[in-house]
Amino acid sequence: VYPQSSLLKSLPKQFFASLVGKVNKYIQDGHDVINLGQGNPDQPTPEHIVKRLQSAAANPINHKYSPFQGFQSLKEAAAQFYLREYGVEIDPNKEVAILFGGKAGLVEIPQCLLEPGDSLLVPDPGYPDYWSGVALAKAEMITMPLKEENQFLPDYSELSQEDLDKAKLMFLNYPNNPTGAVATEAFFEETVELAKKHDICVVHDFAYGAIGFDGQKPISFLQTKGAKEIGIEIYTLSKTYNMAGWRVGFAVGNESVIAAINLLQDHLYVSLFGAVQEAAVEALTAPQDCVEQLNDLYESRRNVLIEGLQSIGWNVTAPKGSFFAWLKVPEGNTSEQFADYLLEKAHIAVAPGIGFGTWGEGYVRVGLLTTEERMHEAVARIKSLNIF
Ligand code: PLP
Repeated sequence: VYPQSSLLKSLPKQFFASLVGKVNKYIQDGHDVINLGQGNPDQPTPEHIVKRLQSAAANPINHKYSPFQGFQSLKEAAAQFYLREYGVEIDPNKEVAILFGGKAGLVEIPQCLLEPGDSLLVPDPGYPDYWSGVALAKAEMITMPLKEENQFLPDYSELSQEDLDKAKLMFLNYPNNPTGAVATEAFFEETVELAKKHDICVVHDFAYGAIGFDGQKPISFLQTKGAKEIGIEIYTLSKTYNMAGWRVGFAVGNESVIAAINLLQDHLYVSLFGAVQEAAVEALTAPQDCVEQLNDLYESRRNVLIEGLQSIGWNVTAPKGSFFAWLKVPEGNTSEQFADYLLEKAHIAVAPGIGFGTWGEGYVRVGLLTTEERMHEAVARIKSLNIF
């Protein structure tokens, strides 16, 4: 047995691995578990994208190494996508880096920009992979609480002068996992101003950019004046086109940050399978009806869940975007106790808020990733517990 390096030992524990273990045990025991705990899109990738992959996979040119830093056509498609969707101009040659999914970029960025011991600002609750990037860069995390009273946006006035002076990087994520909150233009403007003043590079994780409810399309950070001077945005095809298994995304924005990501990736990989890149071009440039339909589907499910839970007396708030609902647990329970209780008594799996950070305590995250019928069934099971 070879001992692991201290770097590996410093990686955060995978909290949700134990949840998967618990859920699987119930399934193996023959229970009909409604699994709302995960973040895996349940719909297939649209057919036109799959077809493009199939034909591209048959082309021998794609059996070779694809060029370092990816296909020019994909960088151009990413730029075209930003112009079409957000009115943001992107230089495909200098302002796009192709990624093996958003996760790769998020984990790489601290290593690209920080020295060991440097500090960065991370939302709490937040997507746990941010912590992995911090650990691999041997950096220090300063958490920014996301509170319901602030619509789950960080309150920058709560940060100390010392922390603001120290921080070199900041992660943000709207529409937000896990809270379902969306950003406002005013908040992004305040962010750019703060970043300029304190020389902080902002990384906005726009994984749920395509999912906004009540007729509100989520805004891109890069739509904010001056944003490109101080930051980048990470976009992924995983959620927008149900391509989580394909591992494709991109970073857009500040030229020097994009160059740093590309440099690190030159040493880690060559590039993505050419056929996946061609299919990604298809996804980004073809008519976007599939995206609209997906958004409607999540909105209907959200309505079934939220209205259902409210009708049985659970005082829950509807998410404005992402495919998660963030539900306050009944008083007297920790998030983990309540998640265990739902699994044991109602065979419903949800993710305990504490798995997303200290400020996630008191909530559970529910994914809108099953049919309306199963959502109705989940509400009925919770009703039968008679706890509200
Ligand atoms: N960011 C957030 C907030 C996420 O929830 C996810 C996936 O669940 C990702 C990034 C990464 O997505 P991917 O690596 O599939 O692009």
